[in-house]
Amino acid sequence: MIIDDGYYDIIIVGTGAGGGTLAYKLAPTGKKILILERGDFMPLEEQNRSNVDVFKAERYHAPEQWYDRNGEHFYPQTNYAVGGNTKIYGAVLQRMRERDFETVKHQDGVSPEWCLKYQDFEPYYTEAEQLYQVHGNASEDPTEPPRSAGYPYPGVNSESQVQEIARAIAQQGLHPAVLPLSLTRQEDDPTGDSEVFGVSAALKFSNVTLKTAAKVVCLHTNSSGREVKAIEAEIAGQSYLFLGDIVVLACGAVNSAALLLRSGNDKHPQGLANSSDLVGRNLMKHLMTAIVQLTATPNSGQFQRTIGVNDFYWGDENFPYPMGHIQNAGGLLQDVIFAESPPIFSVLAKALPGFGLKQLAVRSIGWWAQTEALPNADNRVRFEGNKIYLDYIPNNLEAHDRLIYRWIEVLKNVEKNIEHSVFQHTGIHPRGEVPIQVVANQCGTCCFGEDPQTSVLDINCRTHDVDNLYVVDGSFFPSSSGMSPALTIIANALRVGDRLIERLK
Ligand SMILES: Cc1cc2nc3c(=O)[nH]c(=O)nc-3n(C[C@H](O)[C@H](O)[C@H](O)COP(=O)(O)OP(=O)(O)OC[C@H]3O[C@@H](n4cnc5c(N)ncnc54)[C@H](O)[C@@H]3O)c2cc1C
Repeated sequence: MIIDDGYYDIIIVGTGAGGGTLAYKLAPTGKKILILERGDFMPLEEQNRSNVDVFKAERYHAPEQWYDRNGEHFYPQTNYAVGGNTKIYGAVLQRMRERDFETVKHQDGVSPEWCLKYQDFEPYYTEAEQLYQVHGNASEDPTEPPRSAGYPYPGVNSESQVQEIARAIAQQGLHPAVLPLSLTRQEDDPTGDSEVFGVSAALKFSNVTLKTAAKVVCLHTNSSGREVKAIEAEIAGQSYLFLGDIVVLACGAVNSAALLLRSGNDKHPQGLANSSDLVGRNLMKHLMTAIVQLTATPNSGQFQRTIGVNDFYWGDENFPYPMGHIQNAGGLLQDVIFAESPPIFSVLAKALPGFGLKQLAVRSIGWWAQTEALPNADNRVRFEGNKIYLDYIPNNLEAHDRLIYRWIEVLKNVEKNIEHSVFQHTGIHPRGEVPIQVVANQCGTCCFGEDPQTSVLDINCRTHDVDNLYVVDGSFFPSSSGMSPALTIIANALRVGDRLIERLK
């Protein structure tokens, strides 16, 4: 074991939405900061502006195996790199709605109240939108919560075919709204992520050190168990120990929980910071289904996601429970729709025989239907025999099915109302639900709260059990909401950053 000769004020593990953003926030303090990241920098050509390669299912899946509740292995769709999953995400940065922070009754259970409310997050949402250069148009969406500032940049116009479809959706009395997107405004690397806006900005400060290809495998505590004393990481086949005053995990909801569970010791027999037995439990990942419209006229296949519809977010006249959010997929030559929903491709190929992969993609407009997953203590990350298990049974299925059928109705009306030649009138809308290996919107495995018996983290995302240990990734969510999680993770990292700055004074 090699003991690193530096001693750090703060050590951050992981550089995704949470960790990368926190590094940016803390860098100007002048404190000695070490960032440990198991991945490496992603070459530009490998990043999210990809091409037809995405059809190779599992393009973005990590080269490691996790196991489902039946012990079947799978390759998780998760990205180990500087910037984490924000290097491959859709860059749609949405605020949760005010009601999402309250107790909400769903058809299949209850989405619990958060210990902080929308107004506590609002200033940090604003800061996050500024930092990530979010392009959007406020007030087009009737569910949009109040905001103290507009978006820093105007929303992005849709591809002409998508614009035409959006008009036909609006004619049905619905409110298609421009999706808020993080963009760099740079040609070679257009999508905003936590490498560009977080890690790179932090590394401009000489007090910040980044070590890549450094996989953290264990946290060691002092003899009382009240403080993390050292972090053990594997670098190029060697074991290293890093020492610091404060440790922040930001490995993503699955990996942070797994790391805590594997770091148990005699003071923490159920896993580190796990006196509540909640570490790893209440794993949530949205129910997500991709739905495809077949068009006769080809599109470019290379455009951003731009349109969101929240008219069914809280339900509709036939179903008084939340159903979820709809957004268009990006152009299918660059979106991960086939990689994430493999069955779609075979249905498409049957519907349009004789077309090659690329021709099918440019004759398709994709949509994502996304429904809140509800917390359930039996849906959990387990770490056993050096393996990560996801014991996971999706819930809230009826709400999701309702959303899909309602959306297909909308699409059928669109197809009736738009000039005939645009759509293939096959009458079918191929769709595919994402399988377990798609853990894109994972959250909830170390939820925050005031009571140490019902939460892992306190209100500032410090573990109740260990004084110098924090978690700032998607783990802290008590409920998943129907919105995409990254902006809330970024905003929370900025919020926790303020608390850490006070502590470090
Ligand atoms: C294809 C795809 C599309 C998405 N689209 C959107 C979207 O449009 N909008 C949205 O809001 N969300 C989207 N998401 C989800 C979003 O990317 C995540 O919610 C967000 O990145 C999670 O942030 P995080 O900090 O929790 O973890 P991550 O971003 O996953 O970062 C975790 C980091 O920790 C590192 N790490 C893990 N384990 C260790 C270890 N043991 N030692 C050292 N380092 C470690 C990882 O390499 C990674 O860098 C998408 C995700 C995917 C995969």
